Amino acid sequence: MRKKIIAGNWKMNQTPQEAQALCALLKDRVDGAEADVVFCVPYVDLYPVLDALKDTQIAVGAENMHYEDSGAFTGEISANMLKEMGVTYVILGHSERRQYFNETDETVNRKVKKALDSGLIPILCCGETLEQREAGITVEWVRMQIKCGLLGVDAQQAKSVVIAYEPIWAIGTGKTATAQQAQEVCAAIRQVLAELYGQETADAIRIQYGGSVNGKNAPQLFAMADIDGGLVGGASLKEEFAEIVHYKKDMIE
Ligand code: PEP
Repeated sequence: MRKKIIAGNWKMNQTPQEAQALCALLKDRVDGAEADVVFCVPYVDLYPVLDALKDTQIAVGAENMHYEDSGAFTGEISANMLKEMGVTYVILGHSERRQYFNETDETVNRKVKKALDSGLIPILCCGETLEQREAGITVEWVRMQIKCGLLGVDAQQAKSVVIAYEPIWAIGTGKTATAQQAQEVCAAIRQVLAELYGQETADAIRIQYGGSVNGKNAPQLFAMADIDGGLVGGASLKEEFAEIVHYKKDMIE
């Protein structure tokens, strides 16, 4: 039985002071969650957030990292830096990074391997554009992103990876994939994981859905067989995040 994992992606929001205030608002409300809960925050917020959440069950993640250990990469942050701070997770290959910062499957794969070698848990993002969905190539596209993202990752390491399926047309748009649409692609992702690593490993890997998750739609989405939680953008900056984390309370019979 996979434990659900619900992660907030703050994106480029919250100054360090605002970050502390948001943690103060959410930490007691999130308390008692049955799922693993993660706040993925901007680099400058990592210390204040780690400090604000130190006596809680909430883990902290970064939103990106570089694949090299150190060197002449002005403005970049390494896996070792994150690890030493006490960061546990790192989002890799988010569609906004692919779209605006030239992330490719190759750089994402290098980052995934570096994160795993450094003891960080990657949240590996994949997902199709609306054009790709309408062309009927969603599953093919996502299968390829997963295969490329995990190239050279062995079964033991793969077990700790979290996959986030995020249809690009649903991110920040208020348009959520239906639970059936999301389940269909998450099942296809599990299928490709089984082809790569065998069924036992595929069954151990957690697959999140992301794309306009909110307090209302979380119960249906998270009830699907292959959806093991969510990656949440906009709603992670609000009290509503606590509702998402406690989605079971609103579960529709
Ligand atoms: C995201 O940032 O990964 C995301 C899914 O955003 P939103 O929930 O706002 O659509």
